[in-house]
Amino acid sequence: MRWIISRTTWLERMARRKQPAVDDVTARDHAAMLVRAGAPWLRQAREQLATARRDGKLAHGILIHGTGGAGQSALALWTANLVLCHESGAAPCGRCRSCVLFLAGNHPDFYSVELEEKASYIKVDQIRELCAKLTLRSYSGGGKAGIIDPADKMNLQANNALLKTLEEPPEDTFLILAASRPDRLPRTVVSRCQRVRITTPPDKEAVAWLNGELPRQDWPDLLKLAAGAPFRALDLAGEGAGELTGEMRTLLAQGGSGGALDPLEIAAQWSKDRPAARLAWLESWLESQIRERASGSDVVNNNHDFRLPSADVGVNIKSAFTLLDKVRDARQLLESSLNTQLLLEDLLVQFVNALAGRTAGRMEIQG
Ligand SMILES: [Zn+2]
Repeated sequence: MRWIISRTTWLERMARRKQPAVDDVTARDHAAMLVRAGAPWLRQAREQLATARRDGKLAHGILIHGTGGAGQSALALWTANLVLCHESGAAPCGRCRSCVLFLAGNHPDFYSVELEEKASYIKVDQIRELCAKLTLRSYSGGGKAGIIDPADKMNLQANNALLKTLEEPPEDTFLILAASRPDRLPRTVVSRCQRVRITTPPDKEAVAWLNGELPRQDWPDLLKLAAGAPFRALDLAGEGAGELTGEMRTLLAQGGSGGALDPLEIAAQWSKDRPAARLAWLESWLESQIRERASGSDVVNNNHDFRLPSADVGVNIKSAFTLLDKVRDARQLLESSLNTQLLLEDLLVQFVNALAGRTAGRMEIQG
């Protein structure tokens, strides 16, 4: 989900696109995200935040973290809405002037920082701009709120720039950080934040919730690819990843068993047929392999291979991490790439080589 770098830059970006109308898009994004924030597995986190707010115990820095797609982005937005609301109930009232402005995507004291297009990191200038805005006097006479999402993508300078505001926050100002990898944030930042951890719901509950959104047979598969995070599963389904599972598994098994895969041929085929969904699938698949390995054994001692339940291929963890970075880069570049086929060729040559065990980080078959 991408929205708002800051009000100005976002407005500029939308103006370049010319349509649709700015407020409509922001309002739709806000409304959709706030609906997500009402998901049942986020209830405990919502209560924790609302109680702290009501008791005047909410910290000025709040770090909301969980598996990617578990709901931290939606909950960060909900929290911003909550701290800006003029009432102090268990949820934003939705009726006060502040809530009306927020829902319209038009609140003058709300700022948000996200990854800029094609960027791998949130840059120091974005954080400086956010902090400068948060020191201004409130336009609406109430509180101010800023979201940084994904906060774990701030580079070192950006983190350092944030520290001062976290140490001496302006009055009635809240900085909300959303992250899926809080371990990538410096201790100095984490220690100045109140932490809210989101846990993914049990699979059965998640599948029931997903079926309520959209009935599908393959939710258990998609949920597995999504590390149990329901919003990520929903996004994967929307990207068309579900329909690809059978085909992708066959391909991986074929490559892993020493079958001759021609990366150039696959790239030509993929570039014409749902390239974004295929990359999304590959990314989630690699993540699930890394996770499985990490939970089952010692990540540091990575001399042994681990089993892929989906394709009977063993992947060396080093190789999986390298490929994961490459898939992520390719996903970032896909939209703006002039030559999708070339981009995919570059990735798939490495992927196929790794599957066939031709690189240092070897992959091999397990019986
Ligand atoms: Zn309100």
